[in-house]
Amino acid sequence: MHKILVTRSSMPDITEYVDEISSLFESHWITNAGEKHEELTDRLRDYLGVRALSLTVNGHMALEIALSLLDLKKGGEIITTPFTFVSTTHAIVRSGFTPVFCDIREEDCCMDPDKIEEKITENTVAIMPVHVYGNMCDVKRIGEIGKKHGLKVIYDAAHTFGVKLLYEGEWRGSGSFGDLSCFSFHATKVFNTIEGGAVCCRNEEEARMVTELRDFGIADEETVKYISPNAKMNEFSAAMGLCNLRHVDAEIEKRKKVNDLYRERLSDIKGVRLISERQDQKSNYAYFPVFIDKDEYGEDRDRLFSRLGEKGIGARKYFYPMVTKLDCYRDSYDSSETPVAGRMADSVMTIPMYADLSPEDVDKITEIIRNRE
Ligand SMILES: *Cc1c(COP(=O)(O)O)cnc(C)c1O
Repeated sequence: MHKILVTRSSMPDITEYVDEISSLFESHWITNAGEKHEELTDRLRDYLGVRALSLTVNGHMALEIALSLLDLKKGGEIITTPFTFVSTTHAIVRSGFTPVFCDIREEDCCMDPDKIEEKITENTVAIMPVHVYGNMCDVKRIGEIGKKHGLKVIYDAAHTFGVKLLYEGEWRGSGSFGDLSCFSFHATKVFNTIEGGAVCCRNEEEARMVTELRDFGIADEETVKYISPNAKMNEFSAAMGLCNLRHVDAEIEKRKKVNDLYRERLSDIKGVRLISERQDQKSNYAYFPVFIDKDEYGEDRDRLFSRLGEKGIGARKYFYPMVTKLDCYRDSYDSSETPVAGRMADSVMTIPMYADLSPEDVDKITEIIRNRE
């Protein structure tokens, strides 16, 4: 059986990568802010349209380091979303803060700005929203709320590499919003360094602090300023990033073709809801989520998921279960406080999405979805 996985990592031609890493075999400098690392930092700053950034070993550590950078009161509450990858919540809890879960909007699964203020207490120290599936949060309203209440805003931007938002008449990179924005360059993301991530900052001074924080808190050979872990990116990952960055626009263009074909094939199927496309946003087509209304569709999400699986098609229930229903969190948080997130998690499934997914495969997948049993 011809199997189709839910995603497929972007990789350069082997000769391009070998070429890129060959100098490392001469220098023997393979980590600790080497030549590839420095070049990737510069390139990404330009590509993402941010003032400053520092690379990390993965997206999760980018979140933890962002939280340690801002000098927030320990034990404070951070308003976040339960509709995310568990990393966002883990970063908050592992850093000694208390997550407070705000519900999401049905139209794009991002944090609902109308529901943030009711969650603010005297213990609130920050807001950590997530741009979900490549769709940007309402950064304007969230920014205003943060400002009004003196709260820092840290975005989990793991899904929005290369996304641009039309903001006050200007196209701006997704990493340029909030006090800090964190990316993941994991193998399954639109842009990868195998494992990797970055914290985007407002200025070079902050980026330098991130650089110290991701390196045991070391400022120079004789000065250790912070009690911090090791979260550096190595040269082989940075080299992979340099190669992948050369092709990422072409990859996004190919993803757009897959996206357009999916939309054409799925738009008239009753009970299958898609997230609407926005005019004020250039998407990266990171994921293709479908939401199954079991009454209208005649089958529930889990049934469709199994049917796809039986035919060799790997879909993913992403994000399901929602974070507050996971074993490690369900005794501490009340899932009934975020009913929209609960409903979306119970009906969502992301279907295969990657640059080289063929039109024939899209047809095969959409035919299975169209022909209920
Ligand atoms: C991938 C992802 C992360 C974690 O990134 P890693 O690079 O895997 O550590 C965090 N948040 C979200 C929303 C993600 O999708």
